[in-house]
Amino acid sequence: MRILVIEDEKKIADFIKRGLKEEGYIVDIAYDGEEGYFLAKTNEYDLIVLDVMLPKMDGINLCRKIREEKISAFILMLTARSAVKDKVIGLDAGADDYLTKPFAFEEFLARIRALLRKKDLPEPTKLVAEDLELDLLTHKVTRGNKEILLTNKEYALLEYLMRNAGTVITRTMISEHVWDINFDTFTNVIDVYINYLRNKIDHDHKKKLIYTLRGRGYILRN
Ligand code: CA
Repeated sequence: MRILVIEDEKKIADFIKRGLKEEGYIVDIAYDGEEGYFLAKTNEYDLIVLDVMLPKMDGINLCRKIREEKISAFILMLTARSAVKDKVIGLDAGADDYLTKPFAFEEFLARIRALLRKKDLPEPTKLVAEDLELDLLTHKVTRGNKEILLTNKEYALLEYLMRNAGTVITRTMISEHVWDINFDTFTNVIDVYINYLRNKIDHDHKKKLIYTLRGRGYILRN
């Protein structure tokens, strides 16, 4: 799950980013409305955390523009004001939910989970491919009945492959969904991570699940 945080207060933005990354989300930050608009148009996000008071373009206008562009990401608006009128304006502009600052990080996470759950209802709690299982709630991965320990990045990559099992996934798709904005297209980091995953998931098993399609990308065969 990839999240864009548009927030000009650097301290808050960095705090949010750190917290979300700890939960396994991929996070990009924009510090003003124009940069946020550019990133929202350029990349595919599952959710956008949008502050209302922003330099260059305020959150309400930005929210309208994002919706005009038919960008489907969920929008969680952050507002310093608690006036009912402002919340209504935000929701009318196309936000899916709002949170008044200051907020408890636990509540912030709960709102995000609730929004992301709506994404493709009913959200499965487990992804399964042959005898490989990935538990989306506990992040536990097993093959056969043996637990496989993955790093955050390996887990995110495997989750993406399993969600799209049976379809060819290009390197570009992986870089957009599993890596953040600092991804360097000229490295072979994706191949490296695919190999890590292969060693952990396929190495000890006769039946292989992860395949490389030369010049096209990867596929997890079910
Ligand atoms: Ca602000």
